[in-house]
Amino acid sequence: YDAKKAGKGQIRTFNPQMLGLPREAILDSALRHAMHTDELYLLYQPIVDVNSGEIRKFEALIRWSSKTLGQVPPDQFIPIAEDSDLILDIGDWVIATACAQFAEWSQHFDIRNCVMSINISAAQLMDSRFAGKLKAILSTHGLQPSQIELELTERVLIDDGDYVRRSLSDLNQLGVRISLDDFGTGYSALSYLTKFQIDTLKIDRSFVMRLTEHDKLEQLVSSIIMMGHKLGMSLVAEGVETAYQASTLSAMGCHFLQGYLISKPIAAQDIPAFVLSHGSGTR
Ligand code: C2E
Ligand code: MG
Ligand code: MG
Ligand code: MG
Repeated sequence: YDAKKAGKGQIRTFNPQMLGLPREAILDSALRHAMHTDELYLLYQPIVDVNSGEIRKFEALIRWSSKTLGQVPPDQFIPIAEDSDLILDIGDWVIATACAQFAEWSQHFDIRNCVMSINISAAQLMDSRFAGKLKAILSTHGLQPSQIELELTERVLIDDGDYVRRSLSDLNQLGVRISLDDFGTGYSALSYLTKFQIDTLKIDRSFVMRLTEHDKLEQLVSSIIMMGHKLGMSLVAEGVETAYQASTLSAMGCHFLQGYLISKPIAAQDIPAFVLSHGSGTR
């Protein structure tokens, strides 16, 4: 199957049974093609500081607008990319693009107290050159390592081979921040929280979602926040959609909020206006 030969604009929504090939094969092939076109792009979701109300972080989130398959969500294509070396090329592209974009924003607002947060797959950390490559990109764009946060999932730390451990220690040396994504959904073998230098815990959306007047999950969430405080970690709540969730999390001592209540992921060119309207980064 060659994505180039498929009729242009024929199929607007993703259809797994297309051409009778397995879904994985179709996605893999179309994704390889996408790497050489402009079908992949990043959106950025602003993350707000609970205390100052200012935007302090941005999470880079990949999007794929395929000419043949339509809009394919990352939950569908990242796992496919992770089955092959494709994730390495995509991962390199994400880091380079997010860093270049972040540096470009410095023309519009002060990024010195801001952090760009980038999702990283396990395979990227297996590459012993990972920290070195990142360092080179940062210096190209004049960024400080402390302005970059890498989001890893619990799975990455559980499956820790020697390579992952070495990469994490190289990254600590370099001074980039490490964030634990989707916290609470994985294996919750808490020992890795002290085994690795982790700066930020991101409380998974599934917990935040259940902070409602009816479903009392406050005790669990406030325990996670207290634990984070005791370990000296910064806490981010994901998927904040209601004012009730925001005020509950804020009262519990959560430092940062991310979710549709603040903003959906938005295009790079819309970030400066958004940041300035939140009173951040004025110079
Ligand atoms: P994640 O890292 O946990 O990202 C948060 C997801 O929650 C994003 O979904 C975001 O759009 C969504 N979200 C944020 N706020 C809200 C909210 O208030 N309500 C709801 N319902 N959803 C919210 P998205 O962009 O579809 O990304 C899904 C996952 O794909 C990410 O989960 C991450 O694991 C992965 N991903 C995205 N971009 C990359 C990337 O560049 N590299 C890698 N390796 N994985 C990525
Ligand atoms: Mg993430
Ligand atoms: Mg997450
Ligand atoms: Mg999540």
